Amino acid sequence: MCLFCKIVNKEIPSNVILEDDNFIAFHDINPKAPVHILAIPKVHVDSFNEVTPKIMAGMTEFIQNVAQEVNIQESGYRVITNIGDNGGQEVKHLHFHILGGAKLKWDHFTDADPKGHF
Ligand code: 5GP
Ligand code: ZN
Repeated sequence: MCLFCKIVNKEIPSNVILEDDNFIAFHDINPKAPVHILAIPKVHVDSFNEVTPKIMAGMTEFIQNVAQEVNIQESGYRVITNIGDNGGQEVKHLHFHILGGAKLKWDHFTDADPKGHF
């Protein structure tokens, strides 16, 4: 069973912010911003590549509710899902990073030449 499935099953403790029948949100263990929450489907999905539109519909509303719960919907925040090796995905269970609580940077995604591909 994967790490986040164990968190879903409460075999590994986590700091839960919001939970319903299908989704759970908890604090990232290694936060990169004052607010850094992970929102995941309870069902195991490897990554965004495999997720269904139906799960995403529920996920969207759940993420909106998490933002409201921690009061960042007005100040702003960022939703990120890393996919595969180039995306930097370490945990192979679909998760959305919800980052906020301070002005976020947008300046250095890669050392490669951003104009080098097309
Ligand atoms: P990824 O790099 O796969 O997009 O993000 C995985 C995230 O999971 C990382 O930000 C990492 O800090 C977080 N993480 C890894 N293990 C645990 C854990 O056991 N508990 C919690 N709450 N977060 C974890
Ligand atoms: Zn899993």
